[in-house]
Amino acid sequence: MQKPFKKKTPNRFLWIALLLICISTIVLPNLQPTAKAISQSDIDALQADANKLAAKKKGLQSKLSALSNDKSKVLEKKELLDEQISVLSDQVSNVEDQIADFDHLISQTQAQLDEAKEKEAAQYQLFCKRVRAMEECGTVSYWSVLFKADNFTDLLSRIDFVNEIMESDQRVIDDLKKLQDEISAKQNDLKDQKAESESAKADLVAKKSELNTQQNATVSLMKQIEENEADYKSTLSEIAKEEDATNDKIAQMAKELAKQSSAKGTYGGYIWPEAVSKRISSPFGKRTSPGGIGSTNHKGVDICGVGYTTQVLAAKAGTVIVSQYSSSYGNYVVINHNGGNATLYAHLSSRKVNVGDTVAQGQVLGITGCTGHSTGPHLHFGITEDGEWVDPLKYLANYMKNW
Ligand SMILES: [Zn+2]
Repeated sequence: MQKPFKKKTPNRFLWIALLLICISTIVLPNLQPTAKAISQSDIDALQADANKLAAKKKGLQSKLSALSNDKSKVLEKKELLDEQISVLSDQVSNVEDQIADFDHLISQTQAQLDEAKEKEAAQYQLFCKRVRAMEECGTVSYWSVLFKADNFTDLLSRIDFVNEIMESDQRVIDDLKKLQDEISAKQNDLKDQKAESESAKADLVAKKSELNTQQNATVSLMKQIEENEADYKSTLSEIAKEEDATNDKIAQMAKELAKQSSAKGTYGGYIWPEAVSKRISSPFGKRTSPGGIGSTNHKGVDICGVGYTTQVLAAKAGTVIVSQYSSSYGNYVVINHNGGNATLYAHLSSRKVNVGDTVAQGQVLGITGCTGHSTGPHLHFGITEDGEWVDPLKYLANYMKNW
């Protein structure tokens, strides 16, 4: 509400304003601006933001795991393709070897064929030469055979003699021709087989190129997935930072809330927040980021060995300022002990107190569990002093190191 300025002229108001500015700048130059009044609804609004962030984070994490699922599927497919391609490559080189063998055999038969043709030509030359010689000598000329015969019997025997010579030559030539035909047939057979091998090779090469295309597609898909993954990871780490910042704000507001009440706070005097275990699985402060994407600054300690049924106790008397669920802390409770001093109890399976409740030291706040961002049942326990998270271990007597 604005204060009414009854009957005051704008000039007078201006003067007062100027005077106030001068006083504040001259007299109080180093004074911090006074804290704005904080109400539970401010904390609730912030908590709602934190919840939204946590939900977004959970969504991204499931997308990320779906992506890594996709990635492993693509990897599997790629491995299969790689295998198929290598088998095909082997097949192609096998067919190439066969084709080379056929080429070798074909050139071998060609040499045989050439040799047989040469022999035939030589035989024919020999035959012609013999016939010519006989003609020239006049011993077995057809003419002499026909006209120098003394009688019919002599004529027949002369014809027989000529025929015998001619038949012998003809047989040799026929044999050579037959050999040539056989070699030619063999060569044609080899050429057919080579053509078959070549078409098989063409098929294999086409198949291989198809597989290569698929392989390239899987490689680019993989690249895409990895890019998406990197995007999600960077968004997740941003959200983790925001979550940290929101938690810091909650602690700061608890402090402001405490300041607004006249009650003074004291530090220390805490009891163990449960009664069954003194084992600490994760200490306060810097730690390796879980999965490379979570917070690296642990703002409390993790008490292990508590299961799902252990009663969670108020470490100190105070007022409940947070009692709700968030994706990161699960069911959690924050108790304000005044003076910026608060305690936080997270990952509860159930809560037994509500905001505004006054609790005594040792009063049951809830039951331990594994809700929120937790990999097993444990109690996350945090302490703020003057709005800063401090190491609870300096107050927890006889704790046992379990990290
Ligand atoms: Zn923790």
